[in-house]
Amino acid sequence: MPLRTDLDPSDWASLRQQGHRMLDDMFDHLQTLRERPVWQPIPQALRQAFREPLPEQGQPLAALHERFMTQVLPYSVGNAHPRFMGWVQGGGTPEGMLAEMLAAGLNANLGGRDQMPLEVERQVVHWMAELFGFPTGASGLFVTGSSMANFLGLLVARTRALGPGSRRSGVAALPAPLVAYAAATVHGCIAQAMAMAGLGSDALRRVPVDGRHRMDLAVLERMVEADRAAGLQPFLVVGTAGTVDVGAVDDLAGIAALAGRERLWFHVDGALGALGMLSPGVAPLLAGIEQADSIALDFHKWGQVPYDAGFVLVRHADAQLEAFASPEAYLARHPRGLAAGSPWPCDLGPDLSRGFRALKTWFTFMAQGRERLGAAIAHTCRLARYLEQRLAQSPRLEVLAPVALNIVCFGLRGVDAEQVHPELVADLQESGVAVPSTTRVNGRTVIRVAIVNHRTTSADIDALFEAVLAWADTHLVRSPRRLETVTT
Ligand SMILES: *Cc1c(COP(=O)(O)O)cnc(C)c1O
Repeated sequence: MPLRTDLDPSDWASLRQQGHRMLDDMFDHLQTLRERPVWQPIPQALRQAFREPLPEQGQPLAALHERFMTQVLPYSVGNAHPRFMGWVQGGGTPEGMLAEMLAAGLNANLGGRDQMPLEVERQVVHWMAELFGFPTGASGLFVTGSSMANFLGLLVARTRALGPGSRRSGVAALPAPLVAYAAATVHGCIAQAMAMAGLGSDALRRVPVDGRHRMDLAVLERMVEADRAAGLQPFLVVGTAGTVDVGAVDDLAGIAALAGRERLWFHVDGALGALGMLSPGVAPLLAGIEQADSIALDFHKWGQVPYDAGFVLVRHADAQLEAFASPEAYLARHPRGLAAGSPWPCDLGPDLSRGFRALKTWFTFMAQGRERLGAAIAHTCRLARYLEQRLAQSPRLEVLAPVALNIVCFGLRGVDAEQVHPELVADLQESGVAVPSTTRVNGRTVIRVAIVNHRTTSADIDALFEAVLAWADTHLVRSPRRLETVTT
């Protein structure tokens, strides 16, 4: 029999049954998350199982499903689990999962053309313009994550500063080197974006922060003056709405005023915190974000949309079009037919083929509503305050950074933090009980708890707290002068 050349199943009825089993397994998984460890180390033999040669013949879907359930699912990061608090990662929602399946079935390519899926994406753009108080002429685009969204924001700012001709002449033709500004604690993707934009990460000035880990605006102003005096061209200031290490929010209104005076593009890295606007309690902390020229944000963090769903919002569509639109013949527009409906997403960023990230986002917002999403966000901030209080009452533990949003950095008192905290965190991770992480605050390694997951409860915070103390009990001996690691 000749080999079939289409890739559809020969037996749709059994595929349907198999598909329902897969769906049921994922519902079971989500319903019983708490019964499993947050994370567990990958057995070496299992890694080896994924070093097979390219398969010549296909295998039954049921067997692949079985491999997924036993070999992949149990050894993932665990960010859907309520006691995952290691990094800023969202927990996902069942609606988002189902929407992702619908999007994959449809297999829509959202680069352009006249199709309803683009209206779904435009709906989300309108919602974001509304949420951030941007004008109706704002534009926006789904991208992988905020690393990319920040990069696109920076490219729009660069084109605004140099004019559209710079897209042809390149940065080699710059009259004066461009410089940008951000707090010293800014996410690493901003320096990376400067490098990728050809401006160099050295041209990102790192402004010192105050006691609350916010950019010192007086120093920023002096840095801008000094750079202008030296013949450089300041063009961009990046404010952060929720730093990834401690959750600090820059004085966004203050930055907006300064950016206005100095004619700088004001971009906000809102990857972590921008969606705090969904909560009436959190929104006032972000005051000034509505004055940004562009905002990067992640629906896959506080928005709980399944990965990946980054987004960039630009105050004036013209600026975004000026940075990316190009007149290729095969992308020509027409007043009717499939080539209608300009501008297209491919005019707003570098991607041409793009998936339907908007659908899982639209489903999540429509199914949950702003009120519930906002309440989940506010709840994570309340849990952070609760943990802060428990730490403050403990003689053995101390809070090591101000708690602004949903991140708590703390440590054991009187220990060698560089040695003890990473060991404690790795042991907790391997225990599967809870997943914190470490970061560095004021030159010291601290334990970091980022509460992003909507499933986390105060009982989960208690479990983490007790696990930290239990670790200290078994691993540290009290000596008259300091606690030391027990060497066994
Ligand atoms: C997560 C994060 C980023 C990077 O976003 P990705 O979606 O991981 O690419 C940038 N900045 C901040 C403040 C973040 O929290």
